[in-house]
Amino acid sequence: MKQQKYYTFFQQQIRLLVWLSLIPGLVYLYFGYLFGLFFSASVWYLSMVSISIYGIHLERGFIQKKMDHDALSRWYRQVVLFMYLIFGTWMAAFLLYSTETEHHLHYIAIFTQLGASVVASTLLVSDRKMFVPILVVLMAPLSIYFGLIDTWYGYVLSLFSLIFLGVLLYASNNTYKLLETSYYNAQHDVLTGLHNRRYFIEYMESLVERLAVTKKRAYILLIDLDHFKTINDSLGHDVGDLLLQEVARRIGLFCRQAHVVARLGGDEFVVVSRDFDTGVSISDIEVFAEKLLLKLKEPYRIDHHHLYINASIGVSKVDDTKMDGQSFLKEADIAMYEAKALGRDGIILFNRALANRVERKLLIEQNLHLALKEKRIEIYFQPQVDGDQHLVGCEVLSRWKDPELGLICPHEFIPIAENTGMIIELGEYVLEESLKTFRAWLDQGYDIRQFSINISVRQLFYTDFLKKVDGLMEKYLEKEERHKIVFEITESVLAEDIGKVIKILSALKALGISLSMDDFGTGYSSLNYLRRLNVDELKIDKSFIDHFNESTADQVMVTTIVSIAQNFGLKVVIEGIETKAQFDLLAYYGCFAYQGFYFSKPLSQKSFEKTYLIL
Ligand code: C2E
Ligand code: MG
Ligand code: MG
Repeated sequence: MKQQKYYTFFQQQIRLLVWLSLIPGLVYLYFGYLFGLFFSASVWYLSMVSISIYGIHLERGFIQKKMDHDALSRWYRQVVLFMYLIFGTWMAAFLLYSTETEHHLHYIAIFTQLGASVVASTLLVSDRKMFVPILVVLMAPLSIYFGLIDTWYGYVLSLFSLIFLGVLLYASNNTYKLLETSYYNAQHDVLTGLHNRRYFIEYMESLVERLAVTKKRAYILLIDLDHFKTINDSLGHDVGDLLLQEVARRIGLFCRQAHVVARLGGDEFVVVSRDFDTGVSISDIEVFAEKLLLKLKEPYRIDHHHLYINASIGVSKVDDTKMDGQSFLKEADIAMYEAKALGRDGIILFNRALANRVERKLLIEQNLHLALKEKRIEIYFQPQVDGDQHLVGCEVLSRWKDPELGLICPHEFIPIAENTGMIIELGEYVLEESLKTFRAWLDQGYDIRQFSINISVRQLFYTDFLKKVDGLMEKYLEKEERHKIVFEITESVLAEDIGKVIKILSALKALGISLSMDDFGTGYSSLNYLRRLNVDELKIDKSFIDHFNESTADQVMVTTIVSIAQNFGLKVVIEGIETKAQFDLLAYYGCFAYQGFYFSKPLSQKSFEKTYLIL
């Protein structure tokens, strides 16, 4: 498909040609009147006027916003016809005056033909299909005319005009090729030959404008290959490039003409569907996306490698024309990321709920900075009790009350803080506030057996972490008080470099801190690791407790974990106990501590002190 600017360019040429024909045409009409050719000249001029009216009609009829691919092609064919007609009429002027040697009008005729050829070769240079036939049609009669003079200078002039035609064709052709290449390069991706991001963005703008008028709709499919980086890293960039070319070829073949296919960069491709009537069901586009995904998943044979690759596709509907082209790409991007988050190799259609989630996530991300600065994040304390329901210790849990977003729970903001790196600052803040509180309790004579603080994996691996912890310990606690501090880490730590994990945990132990494996049983733990990590405590995850009373499987699981832990000499904390019935059964295990809403929800410092820390 030709670029939109190409058509606008021709629209301007039409106007110019009409003026270049109608005004000089009057001179020809006047000569006709002077030298007895008034009738023929009038017929000629009237033809010129009619063709010009046709041209103006075409020029006015070009409303790009309204024209889809087919309409543009139709318009372009009419423009070609107009060009043939207008230059053909100029040739008629040549034929009319070339025989009028008596009044020397043949000089004017010859000049007309030469002038028309030069105009054609400059104005129509961006389209070879137009300038080649028109130049031949204009110059060939001139050459024949000179030949017919039948004198030596006639033949020379005939030959010269052929050479002149050759030069014009050669020059126009060269300029055309140059234009084509720079046009092509500006619009295409070098590696795959598909359209590039720039073209796509321009196209989207015109698409949005067009849909506003036609009230149709289109779809964008944003395709991102899954784990492409692994192929690049393991097999090298050359194989990666070949794979991208093959993927591009498959998408191009599958989508054919009516779709715009572009590579946005890296392993990201975009397909814009043709324009649909509003009645078209969304499931049609889903089927299309699924077929495309299947095509991409077929095995690739590249450089003796058999490669398999999946893709995640985000689909966005282009119809709300109040938005600009870029916003639709953003929507498809959101949907594509959701497809990735849901395990990749899938198709997600953009929807409002998804957008709200992403917006909230973004808001949380933005407000988190401020919340930390303005100390809006508070720490709460959830008691841990023994089998007799006497206080053993507590777990510190963060709470964030935002004036704009309301109460945000850690399940929501901790992962965001981890992803953005804010967890470092947040973690340090929570750690310091916690230790400050614990120090105050000790100073007031409140003594509890343990005080647990959650530490995120990312925080653990932060270069300054150990130094920071060391500093805080020095600041707030005596050596013999430190074992009461328990750092809760989750099993996800085991997905990291285990040697490094062991080193960090050992350093923490050396500082006197105790360690707990939080949410135990949900992730990667193996008994071997438990031993090597030297943890002091296991916290059995709430998910085993939720259906504990009804599920024999959960009972077996908890029984096994408790007995293994006890054999290893580890303390066991069971969390998430919500009912008396659960506790009645779980108390039987004689665990170190029990935690859950049945005993108490996490409490503010004041409430916790009032309820549990009574001297
Ligand atoms: P977690 O460490 O497993 O903490 C226990 C979570 O379970 C807490 O949720 C607690 O309020 C909740 N819970 C306790 N008992 C019950 C119960 O009986 N029923 C139900 N339904 N829930 C119960 P919370 O406070 O929303 O924290 C969620 C997670 O966020 C925590 O899970 C912890 O991993 C993380 N987190 C909380 N605060 C911090 C923090 O300051 N730093 C870090 N790194 N993570 C934190
Ligand atoms: Mg915890
Ligand atoms: Mg937990």
